[in-house]
Amino acid sequence: MEVKKEAAAVGIGVPTAAQLEKINALAKGSLTGEQVYVFSVRLCDDQVDRDFERFDGEALTELAKLFVGRSGVVDHKWSAERQLARIFDTEVLEENGVRFIKAWAYIRRGGAGDEWIADIEAGIKKEVSVGCSMGRSVCSICGGEYGSCGHRKGEYYEGELCCAILREPVDAYEFSFVAVPAQRDAGVLKGMGRRVSLKELAEEFGAQEEYRGLWKLSRLGQQYQKQLSDEVVRLCLMLGLKLEEPVLRCAVEKLAGSDLVPLRDALRERAAEKYPVQLQLGTVRGEEALESGYLI
Ligand SMILES: [Zn+2]
Repeated sequence: MEVKKEAAAVGIGVPTAAQLEKINALAKGSLTGEQVYVFSVRLCDDQVDRDFERFDGEALTELAKLFVGRSGVVDHKWSAERQLARIFDTEVLEENGVRFIKAWAYIRRGGAGDEWIADIEAGIKKEVSVGCSMGRSVCSICGGEYGSCGHRKGEYYEGELCCAILREPVDAYEFSFVAVPAQRDAGVLKGMGRRVSLKELAEEFGAQEEYRGLWKLSRLGQQYQKQLSDEVVRLCLMLGLKLEEPVLRCAVEKLAGSDLVPLRDALRERAAEKYPVQLQLGTVRGEEALESGYLI
């Protein structure tokens, strides 16, 4: 499966001799230390992220190798001239019990490269989005293939949070810089950078049960609204308003549930005046009326 995660870039500057050697091995040239700018990117770690997924610690080593030689692009524009940065080295590190891939990338100085460098230095090109392909996703609760076992990520099972563990790296893709104003710090970004759904919020704050209760209620409400709409359309057709059903449906869909009730009641009244027997068909009294009508 394809996986996309966010990371952050940190400017370093002039490469060391060892770094320059690795850069030149990739660049197939003889770049000097003055010609390139080096920065580091923390790519992925083994912690559970907001999608309730995490990379398997063991898989990071393999994945790190796949990132060497990958290019950096701006805002997912995959054209060749925009691939200005390139990862020349990666390493799996461990800090405070967190394993992560640290990558070093370079940009050639001059031209568009200088704009990038200035942006990285200013913290504007700080956020990086990385993509990779993983062969397997495993349930953290039972160890089965995620999606086939019935456990759902983000939910708790006997106090244990279920997440999908990403294993068996297949490929690593280009990384892209996401332009972000420098004054926003990473903590703010988490909430501001994208729209958060109510479901995600409920998962994050452990309110899944309440969310599911509300969801069920809203389904009931939707069913009731559908019944109301159907009845209003049926009554309109019955009263011969000379409107086609699709037009009526379209008009009725725009009405709020609270408007549908008085409209339905008014239409019912009108229909009862026009077709007293037909309207009562569905009721016990209607059946009596039909029977007596039949008898007569
Ligand atoms: Zn499971």
